[in-house]
Amino acid sequence: MSETPLVAGIELGGTKVICILASGPDAIEDRVTIPTTRPDDTMTAIEATIDRWSGFAALGIASFGPISIDRRSHDYGHITATPKPGWTGVDVAGRLARRYGVPTGFHTDVVGAALAEARWGAAAGLADIAYVTVGTGIGVGVIAGGRPVDGLTHAELGHIRPVRWHGDEWIGSCPFHGACLEGLASGSAIAARVGTPAPDLPADHPAWDGVAHALGQLLHTLVLTGVPRRIVMGGGVMVGTGHLFPRIRAAMLASLGGYVPLPDVTLADTFVVPPALGGNAGPLGAILLGVQALEESTGSPLTIV
Ligand code: ZN
Repeated sequence: MSETPLVAGIELGGTKVICILASGPDAIEDRVTIPTTRPDDTMTAIEATIDRWSGFAALGIASFGPISIDRRSHDYGHITATPKPGWTGVDVAGRLARRYGVPTGFHTDVVGAALAEARWGAAAGLADIAYVTVGTGIGVGVIAGGRPVDGLTHAELGHIRPVRWHGDEWIGSCPFHGACLEGLASGSAIAARVGTPAPDLPADHPAWDGVAHALGQLLHTLVLTGVPRRIVMGGGVMVGTGHLFPRIRAAMLASLGGYVPLPDVTLADTFVVPPALGGNAGPLGAILLGVQALEESTGSPLTIV
């Protein structure tokens, strides 16, 4: 894809919405931030923003999850079983697609960020990558051949069950699984366990050992299943905790035991990397979701990276 058309992109987050009118990171014509409140108020505010724009060929929405992404499903485009009050069952994509009448893409915020990092960011030029966000929860976007890996639904690798750190029997914080990955290593889990928000926890706190070990298990699983050529790791827990990257890489390599021919330890810097697009990854991902919807509607090649 040589040129990206002008697209209206919406990153629908748990606390705020970012709407951008853009065709790429260097061509953002407008960027508006809206608080995420009650569903109808939020959707109305999004529409008031987009109503002011013109000339966009498609719409892309990168949303907090879980969401329905199966176009054949009756609830396609809806938020599904979210703990966020009032949002379960809200139709996001259908409402906006009907209002604007342009091809509309809809996927998770983490898949959006993965697409954006693969196109313009820390994994630019690679068609097979994974993006991991470690924040309040843990989300993973897997991209293969330039497309999100979709099936029954979107990937939910944040809820795998890692091998436990030796001697650790804490019950974990996930309401569904207890000590799944998110229940052990997310920002919420860390805060629930030690009573201190993750960013305030000193690098030598023993809780980090278990966190790095659990995230190393995630990367082990990712390497063996999504077979990404690079893994981008972002989110609130990864920002400002530079000590975590080398520990997670080491845990991954130790766990894999040399089974997969990865870049060697000294090159691990190029395999497990921080994001490059910062706060624009989500909204730029929404732009790419719009581009993919446009390509699907016109039958042109589907690969975007
Ligand atoms: Zn879970």
